[in-house]
Amino acid sequence: MKHDAAGPYATLRSAVPDGVTPTEYRDAVITAGFIDTHVHYPQVKMIGAYGAQLLEWLDRYTFPTELKFADRDYAAAAAQLFMRELLRAGTTTAAVYCTVHPQSVDAFFAESVRYGTCMVAGKVLMDRNAPSGLLEPPQTAYDESARLIERWHKKGRQLYCVTPRFAPTSTEGLLDAAGSLLRAHDGLYLQTHLSENLAEIEWVRSLFPARAGYLDVYAHAGLASARSVFGHGIHLSEQELCTCHATGAALSHCPTSNLFLGSGLFRLFDVLDPRRPVRVGLGTDVGAGTSLSQLSTLGEAYKVAALQGHKLGAIQAFYLATLGGARSLYLDGRLGRLAPGYAADVAVLDARATPLLTARTAHCGSLEDLLFVLMTLGDEPGGARDLRGRAQGVRPRRRVLVSCSAVCVAETWGADSITGAVWCPGRLMTAEQHHNGSLAEHQRDRRHRSVPTSDAGHSLPGSWKADAASVAARIRQAIPRYFASGSRDVGSPPC
Ligand SMILES: [Zn+2]
Repeated sequence: MKHDAAGPYATLRSAVPDGVTPTEYRDAVITAGFIDTHVHYPQVKMIGAYGAQLLEWLDRYTFPTELKFADRDYAAAAAQLFMRELLRAGTTTAAVYCTVHPQSVDAFFAESVRYGTCMVAGKVLMDRNAPSGLLEPPQTAYDESARLIERWHKKGRQLYCVTPRFAPTSTEGLLDAAGSLLRAHDGLYLQTHLSENLAEIEWVRSLFPARAGYLDVYAHAGLASARSVFGHGIHLSEQELCTCHATGAALSHCPTSNLFLGSGLFRLFDVLDPRRPVRVGLGTDVGAGTSLSQLSTLGEAYKVAALQGHKLGAIQAFYLATLGGARSLYLDGRLGRLAPGYAADVAVLDARATPLLTARTAHCGSLEDLLFVLMTLGDEPGGARDLRGRAQGVRPRRRVLVSCSAVCVAETWGADSITGAVWCPGRLMTAEQHHNGSLAEHQRDRRHRSVPTSDAGHSLPGSWKADAASVAARIRQAIPRYFASGSRDVGSPPC
């Protein structure tokens, strides 16, 4: 479903079709749904596992968890939990690792179809250095993947992603099989991990002595190209960054994971060097990442940049979580903006979700200020708030509302649309209502008021609304400056 229109409500309200009642979200910022470019749905129940760096963490926690997905029912339950939590966090598209089991992929895509979301996902491929129950010969990996591609790729909104876990669990034969899959089918994605941890990099060097470096292991098998998404890329050489730029491959910046496992600091501003900018999206990398929320992830990305002497502004940050993520997945023609023709995937951020947020946003002086507070505090005390609401018999307010088919009127966030209305056929629901498929409940929800004939009211305090037009202009300037190569003279490539 696509946006029919986006713009000031006063301009668009006369075009609302008969029988459609717009819904106003007061005290809210409506944004294009967030895009998570690196996440493992099977790991949703093992977030926060204690005390290990990457390789030990895989052996001790990840592989035993993923073995459970041989059970179809277990996979279905995990997929349900994951999708519900993902939408509750405001994320409407993700690049998702399943497990080696084909039924894990079936369970995930079936759940995505049920929600009507656009998901990029695939079966993990491994043929060494993991428990035998998670290994398979390259030919089996090829055949099973080909069957899943036939079943799911480009079916509705679903897109298939060839997913070798990473070089250390792959022989050259397995990586070659992955390359053959990419060549045999149109429009597939490739995702894997790259240069996350120093011990991992040393291991890759010993396993693939003939290759020039970690990325060369993948490039040699034909796995570095447009629609390739490499998770992490913390310790890349300049030559490897140039290869990413030249091939159109993307990196997924996963700050909560990198901090949690002690892997290192992603050099975002180096990666975006305008002389050879690399496509970058934001990833949660759950379960090594500690939250499915892109707001939390943006807050940590800010700190990772700060440790390197850089400032990640709110405009750049929200760009990374929306249109930037779409661009890294080559979906920026249809996802990541609130604009006509773009998919109606929307998240609503409640600027008064908690007492602390209410107090803090009361004196935000600009839209940028408000967005920065949301990415710093937006996800922080939600659990306690919900519990308190139930204890008092008060319906808890949810901080993030999600829809893949929206009618809404409020302040909007987008690449070039800040204040106004956005709608398309259908209705906006909370994630919970979306899960239950209950439209009637949404219409009875008194938090949202129908505004069929009047302008959307404004109750957010502060002066940030008056600032919207100037922010929109600055977004248009900032995007090419920070995130696109364009045709400007930016100096000689460094390599
Ligand atoms: Zn990962």
